[in-house]
Amino acid sequence: MKTEYEKYCSNCGQVIDINAEICPKCGVRQFTSPYNRYNSSTVNDDPTISDKDWLTTIVLCAFLGCFGIHRFYTNNTMIGIIQLITLGGCGIWMLVDIILLALGSFKDGDGRYVKNK
Ligand SMILES: [Zn+2]
Repeated sequence: MKTEYEKYCSNCGQVIDINAEICPKCGVRQFTSPYNRYNSSTVNDDPTISDKDWLTTIVLCAFLGCFGIHRFYTNNTMIGIIQLITLGGCGIWMLVDIILLALGSFKDGDGRYVKNK
């Protein structure tokens, strides 16, 4: 049985150490495993963080916030339409959104935080 510190050789299927680059049995070089816990930190796989760009969102909010453009950008289409009709809640909603963005508490349409990465 394979443990979390082991993996299967991509060539012969032998159980080898997760960090092994060369299989000791067949000598074939291993592909980097996506489950390799030592290499996973370079990938942004946090499901709570939006893939929308924080800087783009805050610039859109600052300049076009009264039209709800930043809400359309972050997939909050319904709120975007309401903000467009109300001109960003007469500017108050737009200010609230800028503050939320600055604090990293602004959420996109999927409920993920738009943050400065
Ligand atoms: Zn092998």
